[in-house]
Amino acid sequence: MKREDAIQGLNEGILWDVIIIGGGATGLGAAVDAASRGYKTLLIERYDFASGTSSRSTKLAHGGVRYLAQGDISLVLNALEERGLMMKNAPHLVKNQKFVIPYYEWWGGPFYTIGLKIYDLMAGKLGLGSSEFISKEEVMEFIPNLIDDDLKGGVIYHDGQFDDSRLAINLAQTATESGATVINYCELIGLEKNDDGMIRGVKVRDNENRKEYIIQSKTVINACGVFVDDILKLDDSNTPDKIVASQGVHIVLDTSFLLGDHAIMIPKTPDGRVLFAVPWHNKVIVGTTDTLMKDHSENPKALESEIDFILETAAKYLCKAPKREDILSVYAGLRPLLAPEKEGMDTKEISRNHKIIISLSGLISIIGGKWTTYRHRAEDLIEKAIFIGGLDTEDCKTKTLKIHGYKEGPDFSDHLYVYGSDKEKLLKLIDENPDYSKKLDDELPYVEGQVIWALRHEMARKLEDVLARRTRALFLNAKASVRMAPKVAGIMARELNKDSEWIEQEIKNYNEVAAAFLV
Ligand SMILES: Cc1cc2nc3c(=O)[nH]c(=O)nc-3n(C[C@H](O)[C@H](O)[C@H](O)COP(=O)(O)OP(=O)(O)OC[C@H]3O[C@@H](n4cnc5c(N)ncnc54)[C@H](O)[C@@H]3O)c2cc1C
Repeated sequence: MKREDAIQGLNEGILWDVIIIGGGATGLGAAVDAASRGYKTLLIERYDFASGTSSRSTKLAHGGVRYLAQGDISLVLNALEERGLMMKNAPHLVKNQKFVIPYYEWWGGPFYTIGLKIYDLMAGKLGLGSSEFISKEEVMEFIPNLIDDDLKGGVIYHDGQFDDSRLAINLAQTATESGATVINYCELIGLEKNDDGMIRGVKVRDNENRKEYIIQSKTVINACGVFVDDILKLDDSNTPDKIVASQGVHIVLDTSFLLGDHAIMIPKTPDGRVLFAVPWHNKVIVGTTDTLMKDHSENPKALESEIDFILETAAKYLCKAPKREDILSVYAGLRPLLAPEKEGMDTKEISRNHKIIISLSGLISIIGGKWTTYRHRAEDLIEKAIFIGGLDTEDCKTKTLKIHGYKEGPDFSDHLYVYGSDKEKLLKLIDENPDYSKKLDDELPYVEGQVIWALRHEMARKLEDVLARRTRALFLNAKASVRMAPKVAGIMARELNKDSEWIEQEIKNYNEVAAAFLV
């Protein structure tokens, strides 16, 4: 996956079947779907792959127990099927995670057990294990540092857990291997229309050198997440806003706050939200919030009130109450939700189902959906593209398509497991050069060879790409990632043949991004 080769494709006067704008879960999934059906596919992303919402999730491949409680049966059925397919096609990245729901009222046991048995039944053959009722003693055995006052018992259930930005990179690699061209740091700046007002291509800018290109395509897909409205307005300035952005925040703590390998799910916090505490890459993620945002940016920042809410709520359940100074990293993501029809509707009540909009110009836009259901959204999008673009019909292949890195039974205790089948090649690279095994910081497991790998094989271009999304340093320990930045920038400059000015600028840019993750 080389950016130089991909950019070359823009010069060749190709008539593309499908151009996809946006390199998050939705766009990358669509690129995999289209390319694997044999369509000439181009995907452009204005920053890095998954730099938007798709690297800032709770990292759950789940049916959504919460949506079951809301009665959204079709959403849960679909998400459970997709959870199973994700695990089948990317077993190196999606693992089976046990969750405990502790309950504090006498009716909690039967209530949650029945609900979760229905969840298991709905998953059918793709189920990850049966839910079971457990005693108070068993809850304390699995989560030794849960506050046990008034605890009556618990219910265990299973869901999937994954690394969101690593899956995004693997999707970009899968798309490329299926014949697609994918390019990061390449932005849509205009839509090209014929005399009848039908979209026939796009104008894009290579954000690395500001060079612009006009490219022809039979169809254009707008998968820009919370920025979908910007593209819709580029098509027709009178389009009313179609989305609302709801912010969700997570804090990251060290594992002493959640002992054991079980996650906790609190289905209803005192103010009616869901709270998760989930082990992830040897840390614990706690969140999330649901805050309606008027404005949105590409690097959203947690509100003080959101951090306080998470700390206060976690303190109600965990013996070791986390404080601000314990937070290793805080990250915020924006859910692109369909603007509610009713004024004043709570964001928690807005459906997480996706919606595809076909504009009069033929522009295909998508709003909403979860990471878990990316494959299904992609299939839906490409079915629409076949119809709009008059493409030869080809069946969808992605239900059984193995994702790049596919490897059964990886050793999840080795932090390099995320590379799946690439791990052996990465180890060989590390073996070949003694410097490559050097750790980048004492508090994180990453080594120099991973930086080189990210540049050579994963289209990392900027310091932030390496520290936030190829490795997860920024999310796991923001301060450590800032400490690592000069060393990583130096390694990158040597590999990419850049000068000291580049290093200085990269570190400056990185520190600005990292500021939103520091408390
Ligand atoms: C806090 C939170 C927790 C979540 N947890 C989960 C979870 O545990 N499990 C789950 O299944 N789902 C979860 N989700 C939902 C999931 O993360 C999102 O549904 C999914 O990531 C959306 O992907 P996307 O591709 O639609 O959007 P994005 O990831 O935002 O991608 C859109 C991309 O378009 C690009 N773009 C915008 N304008 C342009 C342009 N002009 N040119 C080129 N590119 C452009 C952006 O840079 C961006 O990268 C969560 C969401 C949030 C906010």
